[in-house]
Amino acid sequence: MKLLLTFSRKRESDPGRQPVIARIVKETGVLINVEKANIDSTAGEVLIDVPDQDADLIRRRMEETGISVRSLERNAIVRDEEECIDCGACISVCPQNVFSFDADWRIQVRQGACVLCGKCIRACPHQALSQQQ
Ligand code: SF4
Ligand code: SF4
Repeated sequence: MKLLLTFSRKRESDPGRQPVIARIVKETGVLINVEKANIDSTAGEVLIDVPDQDADLIRRRMEETGISVRSLERNAIVRDEEECIDCGACISVCPQNVFSFDADWRIQVRQGACVLCGKCIRACPHQALSQQQ
């Protein structure tokens, strides 16, 4: 399951200034795969992938340290079917092969593989794609 972590890094005591992920891996023995990280001097956003059976434990441990956690396993990217014209631009840019055509040349979405890079949102000519809030 994919979990999106957001945290502050403003103060020395903020979770973003601590080796939180490494500590939780060590404590729990759960292997965490970091798929994306945007971190600057004040805040951070990290997308991790954890085994489904360990997701509740990891979420709880992260939240105990002050990190906000959002599950993204379903509908990380939202497609507005009214706006989509099945042009295939999102297929071309997605590094994770989330999009494909079905036998009728309609777009199919394989949500679990998304790493929230945002390329498809920028590439879509009809503003049919957005990130789940
Ligand atoms: S780029 Fe936008 S309009 Fe084109 S197929 Fe993808 S979602 Fe639909
Ligand atoms: S955000 Fe990136 S990984 Fe996710 S569906 Fe769009 S292009 Fe693919």
